[in-house]
Amino acid sequence: MGSSDQPLHVPAGRDIRLADFDADYHEGLDRDAAEAETRRHCDALDELAYRLFAEAKRAVIVVLQGIDTSGKDGTIRMLAGGISPQCLDVKSFKAPSALELAHDFLWRVHAAVPAHGRIGIFNRSHYEDVVVVRVRKLVPKEVWKARYDQINAFEKLLADGGITLVKCFLHISKKEQRERLEDRLRDPKKQWKLGPDDLTDRTRWDDFQQAYDDALTLCNTEHAPWHVVPADKKWYRNLVVARLVRKTLEQLDPRFPPFDSRLLTKLD
Ligand code: AMP
Ligand code: MG
Repeated sequence: MGSSDQPLHVPAGRDIRLADFDADYHEGLDRDAAEAETRRHCDALDELAYRLFAEAKRAVIVVLQGIDTSGKDGTIRMLAGGISPQCLDVKSFKAPSALELAHDFLWRVHAAVPAHGRIGIFNRSHYEDVVVVRVRKLVPKEVWKARYDQINAFEKLLADGGITLVKCFLHISKKEQRERLEDRLRDPKKQWKLGPDDLTDRTRWDDFQQAYDDALTLCNTEHAPWHVVPADKKWYRNLVVARLVRKTLEQLDPRFPPFDSRLLTKLD
């Protein structure tokens, strides 16, 4: 695939193969230009999120998926810099607790769906239940296989209820992951981020890519499409996500509730 015209979104029904996407794609932009554009989008996001909050009829969830070190935390920092905390719910999904495991896999996800008016950011999500769970063989194949349809139905339920999902797969190359893991191993401020599973997961790189290919292909619907975000360059990743979230909110075009002009006469 030519790097000058890499799509962010693949039409529903077509196969998505991550190997076809260049993780280092950056439109030929340089860092300064990309960061300046990202700041403009973040400024616009502040006002749009405020309108969504005031309208209080719909919500947005930014779903961030990607292998370890793909930049989920950094993306959240960028978005949170543009949106007032009172409009924002950030939720990180870790390995499920005993209580969570005693429910269906979507139970904890549904509970984290933002109320109308709010923007949720999911740091990992129900997609772990068809990716890490599959690669680490945590449930039988027939269980995770049934989940693609269950996820599509769940996301349709959310979409019908006025929740827009912005699903972003942060795509980094194996080489870039090595550099980031090495950085984490050496930097005392980052070592805490490394768990024993991270290095084991890297040895299953191909299995993760395959599990993601399937998740992105099978759950790329009209009501909740996937975006493959080139993420080797952090500043380009930020730009792409900022653009996407801004575009989504602009399309929603949230409105302030109508003003009751009788209030004008009530102030003494
Ligand atoms: P981190 O995001 O680096 O803090 O790590 C969270 C860990 O929890 C990752 O290794 C995820 O793969 C794991 N995790 C998240 N959701 C699930 C799940 N549903 N089942 C098993 N592991 C999960
Ligand atoms: Mg981790």
